[in-house]
Parts: sequence; C-alpha cells; structure tokens
Amino acid sequence: MNTEVKLHPSTELLNQFIQGELVTGKSVVVSAHMELCKSCRAKAEELQAHAVSSWVDPGSALQSDQPSEVDYSSMLASIVKSPQIKSEPIEELVEIDIDVLNHSIKLPKVLAKAASEGLQWKKVAGGISEAHLFLDNETLCEFIYMAPGCQVPVHTHQGSESTLVLDGSFEDELGEYKASDFIIRDGQHNHQPRSKEGCLCFAVLDSPLKFTEGLARLMNPINSYKFKKATSRLA
Ligand SMILES: [Zn+2]
Repeated sequence: MNTEVKLHPSTELLNQFIQGELVTGKSVVVSAHMELCKSCRAKAEELQAHAVSSWVDPGSALQSDQPSEVDYSSMLASIVKSPQIKSEPIEELVEIDIDVLNHSIKLPKVLAKAASEGLQWKKVAGGISEAHLFLDNETLCEFIYMAPGCQVPVHTHQGSESTLVLDGSFEDELGEYKASDFIIRDGQHNHQPRSKEGCLCFAVLDSPLKFTEGLARLMNPINSYKFKKATSRLA
C-alpha cells in the first residue's frame, strides 16, 4: 500500500501532530494516515528527534533561531505527551467488515476500534452515506462512503477538510486519490468529488461545507446545523 501513497500531510501538520497541538479529530486522521504510510512515520520520527534535540540543547535552539528563553518544564511535558512514533512497519491494520461495503477492508487501528463498535450509517443524497464519530468539540469527523458513479455537489470550505482515502478512489478537479492518500482542502478550493468505482474515506472538517452552485446551495444552512450538531454531540 505504501508504494502508491502520493499525498501526505504537510511537514507543518506532522510537526503539530508530534507536538500534540492538534484537536483529537485532526490528530486521529493524521495518525491513521501514518499507520498506512511508512514515509510519514519516518519523517515524523525525524521531526520528533530534531524537536527533542533542540529542546534539550539550548545551543542548537539558538542556532536555529528558536526563542532563547527556553521553558523546559513545558517542553518536557510535550515530550512526555508526544505520540510514540516508529518508522517500523505497523502490522496492526485491522480487518473488519463495514456495512456499506461488500468486502472486508483493513483499517488503521485508530479507526478500526471506532468502526468495529458499530457505525451508524445515514444515507445522504445521491449514493452518499455518512457515519459520524464524535472525537472532539471542534471538528466534524465522519466516515463517508460514495457509491460507484456518485458525486458530491460543488463546494468549498470555510475552514479545512482533511480526508484520508481508505478504500477505492475518487477524483476532483485537482487529481485522483487512492487508498492511503491524505488530502487537505480549504477555502482556496472549489471542488466536486466524484467516484467511478466507489470510495470509503475518513474526513475531518473544522467548519461546515459550503455548496457553491445550483440548488445544493439551499443545503448550506443544513450543513451548518449538521456541523453544530456533530460538534456538540447531539448527533
Ligand atoms: Zn504519508
């Protein structure tokens, strides 16, 4: 699976992940990608080693233009709470059945537990199904299944959407995305995801979707309501 991964979290996002700065939803989607991607595990390990060496060696911190006032207690706290990262292959993908698929799939452990506890799938319009996970109060986290041949209305994002492809593939105006790819879309992108063969993704939104064309725009208040509901655990 690793050899085909084309799209990865940015270095900035990986850094935020290892520093423990991400809300749970975002941390989970990055962590799930890392379970599938050896190169990101290696990169995160390197970033973590670099961060630790600059924390424990004030000299190297000064050379790298880090603030000279070093707060060791918060740094040590960060080191302790940082996720343990290994670039070794992870043999912990979990094979499970998902209601919307007619075959079993291997999911990253961080997602498999939630998925195996029973996802509540809801059919949305046009062959799309969604199953929410409540992970924090700031993000809407959901598994999204697109049936073969279906498409999402053209939309943009007020914040950002991180998507991890778990099975199948989808495409939009900017490219084609396959299993393990990690895609970020934000307000700069107006896009229309569609899938020929069907696709299962895990997506984390930090604000509601905004449809930009046609009748789908009438659904924008519903998107806002859905976001509010999901992040306040009323879903
Ligand atoms: Zn990667």
